[in-house]
Amino acid sequence: MSGAAKNASRLAGALRNYARLWFWESLPGTRRHDHLETRIAHLWLIRTLGLMPSFNFTEHPHRRYNPLKGEWVLCSPHRAKRPWQGAQETVPGEERPRYDPACYLCPGNARAGGAEHNPRYESTFVFTNDFPALLLDTPVDAPDADGDSVMDKPLFQARAVRGTCRVVCFSPRHDLTLAEMTQAEICRVVDTWQQQYTELAAMPEVQHVQIFENKGSAMGCSNPHPHGQIWASSFIPNEVAAELRQQASYFSATGRALLPRLCRSGAATAG
Ligand SMILES: [Zn+2]
Repeated sequence: MSGAAKNASRLAGALRNYARLWFWESLPGTRRHDHLETRIAHLWLIRTLGLMPSFNFTEHPHRRYNPLKGEWVLCSPHRAKRPWQGAQETVPGEERPRYDPACYLCPGNARAGGAEHNPRYESTFVFTNDFPALLLDTPVDAPDADGDSVMDKPLFQARAVRGTCRVVCFSPRHDLTLAEMTQAEICRVVDTWQQQYTELAAMPEVQHVQIFENKGSAMGCSNPHPHGQIWASSFIPNEVAAELRQQASYFSATGRALLPRLCRSGAATAG
């Protein structure tokens, strides 16, 4: 049988199958075939007729490779079209005063917990978080009462960690965001990030310094005053550790650094 005849025969078979499934499923009380069979016949038919739309990255589900972590991530762009009846965020900050006497980050105010007061700072201001997630004086490798390490059971492992957490008030003004500050004021924030990074990275117990901002209450930010965080830790966080492994692996395989290659490729793709 020629190729054209074979295709015609397969098409006729698919049409017969599709019609049969449609007939049985349309009879009340006689649903003898599940929807999956009908859908498979339907897909076969539109593929055979050349009606299948071509793949589109902005429309169809796909996985994208993250070369910095060596992981594939599921992207479902079509889900952005689903109806949303969940929480609606309002734009914050429009009614905020320049100074809030109840804010624990404004100049001169009592901080959270009330034990300390902020100085009357006039520029970017840094202090150690009153409720830090990491402590510099955590006892490490302490054995339990039996003298055994409780941290090395095969299935239950733990490690004591050290570190410190600092808060960076970007501005004394309560009502600003970083984007609303002047260029000179933003430069002072960036200078502060650099100074803090250098200072904390020089501490012998510090392996990693993370500078970040949780913006908005939905992200866990507990105060609208413009501020960010710095965490210095005695360990390398999982995400960064994975990225370091990927970069080392890429370099040993290609003799090239991954990050500049990524930047160039990203710029070329975006362009
Ligand atoms: Zn404030």
